[in-house]
Amino acid sequence: MFDLVIKNGTLVDPERGRVTVGHLGVSGGKIAAIARDEIDGKKTIDAGLSVVCPGFVDIHAHVDGYHYSARCMARQGITTTVGGNCGFGPLDLAGFFDRYEAEGFPINQAMMIGHSFTLREKVGAEDPYSPATREQVRQMAELLETAFQQGAIGLSFGLEYAPGSSDEEVLVLSRIAAKYGKLVAVHTRTDSWAGIGAIKEVVRINELTGATVQVSHLVYQVGMGMMTEALEVLDHAVASGLDVAADSGMYHAFATFIGSPVYDEGCLEKWGCTYHDLFVATGKYAGRRCTEEMYRELRANHKDDVVVAFACRESEVYEALMPGYMMVSTDGAVGSPEPGTGHPQDAGTYPRFFQKMVREQGRLTLVEAVRRCTLLPAERLGLGSKGRLKVGADADLVILNLDRIADRADYPGFGIPDAPPEGIEHVLVNGQPVVEKGQVLEDALPGRVIRPACQVWNWV
Ligand SMILES: [Zn+2]
Repeated sequence: MFDLVIKNGTLVDPERGRVTVGHLGVSGGKIAAIARDEIDGKKTIDAGLSVVCPGFVDIHAHVDGYHYSARCMARQGITTTVGGNCGFGPLDLAGFFDRYEAEGFPINQAMMIGHSFTLREKVGAEDPYSPATREQVRQMAELLETAFQQGAIGLSFGLEYAPGSSDEEVLVLSRIAAKYGKLVAVHTRTDSWAGIGAIKEVVRINELTGATVQVSHLVYQVGMGMMTEALEVLDHAVASGLDVAADSGMYHAFATFIGSPVYDEGCLEKWGCTYHDLFVATGKYAGRRCTEEMYRELRANHKDDVVVAFACRESEVYEALMPGYMMVSTDGAVGSPEPGTGHPQDAGTYPRFFQKMVREQGRLTLVEAVRRCTLLPAERLGLGSKGRLKVGADADLVILNLDRIADRADYPGFGIPDAPPEGIEHVLVNGQPVVEKGQVLEDALPGRVIRPACQVWNWV
C-alpha cells in the first residue's frame, strides 16, 4: 500500500524520452512504483489521462524565501526554485537554510550566492561603475568559499547591475566555482546589440576557468532584435563542446528595479522605446504607465520600485527557446511583489510555455518541452533526484491538462499579474500536495532546502 497513487496518468519520462499510460505510486516522499497494473494507495488521485511529469525546476528566480511568490510558483507547477540570482540575495546562507528547514516552505529552495550586490556590498565595493580592489576581490573569494561550504548551489553575477566589475573579479570568483563544480549564472553585462559581446564574455568565462556557465533570462538581454545572432554565438560554443547553456522566459517585457543601472540614461534609445513603454509594477505608482516625470521621481526617491520595460519582441521569446540547450525560467518574484502586483512571469511562465510552444505553435514535442522544464535544469544544477520520473526520484510531480493549459496572468495595467493559470491540476512536493484541483493549499509547507554537499571537483 503506497502513501499515494496517481492512477491513469499520461506519464512523461524526460530521461528516456518516453510517454506511457500507467499508474504511479508514492511513498516516503519518493516515487516508489510506476506500473501498468492497478496499484493501491491510502489516497488516490485519478489523473484521467492528464500528463503526469516531474515538477518544474526553475533555475532562475528571485523567490528567496518569500511565501506568497512561492505559492504563485507552485500554482504554475514549479516544485524547486533557485534563488540568489542576478547577483543579489542573502549572504548568510547557513542562517537562511536553517530557518526554512525549521519552518518549511511551499516548494524546494536552492540558493545561489550573488556577486554584484551581495558579495560586493559586504566588502565595500558598492560603486557599481568601479572595479573592486585587489583586497576586496580577495575578501569576496573567501566569502564565496564559505557560501559554497554552507550549501550555495552556484555563483550568480548581475554584471548589468555592476558594469564596473573587472575581469579579475569575475575570473577569480568563477575559478572558485569551477573548483567546487558549481554553476556560474550570468545576467550579462549589457543588453541589445552590445549584449552579443556580453554573451561572448560568458563563453570566455567557461574557456578561461572551466566553470559551468549559464546565460540568464536570454530574451531579456538580446530579445530586442538580435536573438538570431545571439543564438549563433551560443550554438557555436555548445557545438565546440563548451559547458555553456542558457535559460529564458515567456514574456517580452522584463521587470527590474528602477534605480538600477539597467535604467540608466540612454536605455530607452538603446531599446528603441519611449517612457510610455515602461510600466510601474510595484510601489506608489503600481499599475501605471510611466512618464518622464515619474521616471525621474522613481529613479531619485524609489529606487527599489520595480518597473516593467516592453523592450523585447514576442517572436524572439519563442525563437530563444528552440535550441536543445535552452531551458525555461521565470526570473520571477523580483522585489517580492504584493498580491495583485508584479509581473505575469511570477504566475504564468510554465503554463504559457506549454500553451504556446507545444499546443498552439507545435514548436516542441510534449516530451521535449517537459525535458526543458525538468531534467535539463536538474542536470545543470547537479540535482540527481529531481527532474526525473523514475523509481527512487523525489516525488515532485505535476499533473497538467495539455488541452486546457493556459496562462491567465497579464501585466499590471492590462490585467491581473498573479492570476492563476488554467490546466495545472495537481502539484506534489516531496509527495505532499501543494496544489489540489487547481487550488493552492495555503498551509502546505512540504518544500525542503537543497544544500548540496561541498566537494572539490577540480583544480583549474
Ligand atoms: Zn537578471
